[in-house]
Amino acid sequence: MPVTFLPLGGAGEVGANCNYFNFEGLGIIVDAGMHPRKEGLDALPLLGLIENDPVDFIIITHAHHDHIGSLPVLIKKFPHARVICSEATREIAGIVLHNSVEILKWSSHDETNRDLIYGHDDIDRLTAFFIDLHYEQEFELDSLSYHSTRRLTVTLYDAGHILGSASVLLQFGDFRLFVTGDIKPDDQIILKGAVIPDKPVDIIISESTYGDYDKDFFSLPHEIERFTTSLNSVISGGGSAMVPVFSLGKTQEMLMLVNKLMEKGKLPEVPVYTGGISRKINRIYDNFRYKTNRKEKNIELMSFPQTDIYEVTDFSDFERNNGIVLAPGGMVEKGTMSFRLTPYWLKNEKFAIFFAGYIDPDSSGFVVANASQGDKLKLTRNGMMREVKCRIERFKFPSHPFRGELFNIYESLKPSAIVLVHGSQEAVDNLGSKILNRFPGIKLYAAAAGKAIFFNT
Ligand SMILES: [Zn+2]
Ligand SMILES: [Zn+2]
Repeated sequence: MPVTFLPLGGAGEVGANCNYFNFEGLGIIVDAGMHPRKEGLDALPLLGLIENDPVDFIIITHAHHDHIGSLPVLIKKFPHARVICSEATREIAGIVLHNSVEILKWSSHDETNRDLIYGHDDIDRLTAFFIDLHYEQEFELDSLSYHSTRRLTVTLYDAGHILGSASVLLQFGDFRLFVTGDIKPDDQIILKGAVIPDKPVDIIISESTYGDYDKDFFSLPHEIERFTTSLNSVISGGGSAMVPVFSLGKTQEMLMLVNKLMEKGKLPEVPVYTGGISRKINRIYDNFRYKTNRKEKNIELMSFPQTDIYEVTDFSDFERNNGIVLAPGGMVEKGTMSFRLTPYWLKNEKFAIFFAGYIDPDSSGFVVANASQGDKLKLTRNGMMREVKCRIERFKFPSHPFRGELFNIYESLKPSAIVLVHGSQEAVDNLGSKILNRFPGIKLYAAAAGKAIFFNT
């Protein structure tokens, strides 16, 4: 019997990532994300499509909201499913999900679906029953509904994307299916690049976030140089720089970078502002430093001097006390600190906003990142028109692979088929056509939500 793969979200977009697999009666979901910009039920994966199917295991690749945000809802629908993730993801999951309860309270207008909305108690109960695996530890999957004699196992591999991130290898007898999850093969500032299986696989479910970018134009040392020069010019001009960052991953990478630059004397020792759950996550990065595949294990993020951004009640402090603000909210989403600070930043010509990571084309962050001094913009569709007086620049500190990095993975794993997920339609189309040129004869699919693909085993 073929293996069924049914994408339930994150197809043709970076949204509510969720993939359903059926291995002869045993149901596995990989990732339970929530759409970052939609609200209420619209933000969930298409769970209605598997209402009558078995769900025995839910594997979480990492604790970013677009991969874990709807997990409590899934557990309400499938209470018998066991959740599998890496050790660090288990630690981070509680923090991220407790935080998303706050976000849901703020955005949930949907009274009719109250039973699906979860609270803090649900999360404590949920995380207590996670099965956490070491990287490269094989774990056998079984259930009452499984009717195959083949051995089915899962193995997690370090994906190098954020702390705890994992790629997933599912082995069904001799058939091997590899889900990259969000993956970064090259080293970042803190984390070393991904580890991939040493034997070929049959199928790769591949992320494609930066599939339309070639690697040739990018070099990390060059980008660090450019970032340092820009920061110096803002600070010496009497301004503060805001870097909108995700609390999980990008905050820690940028905090490490900024402090290393200060230690080397390449940046003046100005206040660095951090806040929200990113501080709790810094602590987990520190606690896991010896267990993590990282460049320097001895440096602790919490040893760097940091001012709590949420304790700043008067924004004019940023004028008197120039500094670097690592503001939670990487895409300047409504309700985040970076969204609150942006209007203040925009009207100050000495200030600067520096973007460092992925920005969705439909987010407020995208509008800001593509504006220049003198432009006028609206942060939200119905928001007020604002003039851009501050400096705006974009830097690349990627935690997703460029095309060349993906091709290296495909070359070593030699799949007969690739399914593209987790990328805009443009990224998928662009990457897809390049794959067909480079790997003639390969079977290629662009995942479409709700459309099943069958793999012969
Ligand atoms: Zn991610
Ligand atoms: Zn993602």
